[in-house]
Amino acid sequence: MSLRIGVLGGGQLGRMLALAGMPLGLEFVFFDSIADATSRQCGELVVKDFLDFKALEEFASSVDIVTYEFENVPVEAVDFILKHAQVYPPRAALELSQDRLFEKKLFTELGIATPKYLAINSEDDLTKAVAEGELPLVLKSRRLGYDGKGQFVLERSEQISEAWEAIGKVPAIAEAFVPFSRELSLIGVRGHDGSTSFYPLVENHHFEGILRLTLAPAGNISVEIQRQAEHYLQSLLDRMSYVGVLTLELFQVGTTLLANEMAPRVHNSGHWTIEAAETSQFENHLRALLGYSLGSTNSSTPSAMINLIGELPDPESVLKNPGTHFHTYRKQPKAGRKVGHVTISGHSASQVAERIVALLHLLPRKIAEQVTLN
Ligand code: AMP
Repeated sequence: MSLRIGVLGGGQLGRMLALAGMPLGLEFVFFDSIADATSRQCGELVVKDFLDFKALEEFASSVDIVTYEFENVPVEAVDFILKHAQVYPPRAALELSQDRLFEKKLFTELGIATPKYLAINSEDDLTKAVAEGELPLVLKSRRLGYDGKGQFVLERSEQISEAWEAIGKVPAIAEAFVPFSRELSLIGVRGHDGSTSFYPLVENHHFEGILRLTLAPAGNISVEIQRQAEHYLQSLLDRMSYVGVLTLELFQVGTTLLANEMAPRVHNSGHWTIEAAETSQFENHLRALLGYSLGSTNSSTPSAMINLIGELPDPESVLKNPGTHFHTYRKQPKAGRKVGHVTISGHSASQVAERIVALLHLLPRKIAEQVTLN
């Protein structure tokens, strides 16, 4: 009998988990509130509200183990499922990652450097933070923020009311604006037995708060920087008795790293691992969940990943370029929606860079314009 994996969320991350799990003989059941969730093409899809406890009970009883593929799953849903099935990554990771203040406090407690931050509960708090700190600062709602949503960069003190309004007057944190040289992320995986493994640090380029391009591995990473990032992630994994894949997003400032946030799941900046690492992040997440040995996270092939956002090019326009792989999520294209990605690999980072430039000429203008190489 096949093992059945229950996944809360039916987006492209769930879809790619299923694609990685099929060779392992796994079956997938997705739970989402959206009827046309893309994962329906790779398994069963239960379309119910995340707080429909009857549906959650049926879902949990029909699978061997449950995981989640987006971090805004209500914690109440996970608490309920835990009465019927095991859920990994652990509940604590989900709860902490849903609240930017708790998350930053955990980083601080573990000695993980972060941008300076303050809790903001009112416009008065924000006024005080501006009076006592330096501008610019980034105001971020504590909850339900992703891809730059619920954020405001406050450059002048006259913008206090506007910023407070813009984030919806909800509990928030005010962070020092970091003049980072680049954004990096580290993906790691931890098994039930406490074994861990880490992918190389990658470099991420965003536009309007959304990831557009990942370079893997990031260039010019010293042994010390990789070690520092792994040390940070290891301490998070161990503190939470974590099982599965965990991602840490970082700002590099000179030779130091500041943690921005963590994602308790497989991550967009790890899609390159499907083709260019010995074991993909998706397979490793499943291996960890099921208590199998973790697969090697080594990569001997430099690569890059470009998100296809808003529209989907013709596959041939991508595939005719050497070293490319095309992924569609078979989602209805819509402005700002991630509908697929392309992986580009080569013998060297410079060959990958050349191939990116060549490909950008062939991609729809809107997608290409939002990818910056520098
Ligand atoms: P987040 O939702 O926290 O991941 O933020 C989205 C993007 O906004 C990040 O990837 C950065 O490009 C930018 N950002 C977030 N926080 C800061 C900060 N404190 N200083 C500078 N840029 C930031």
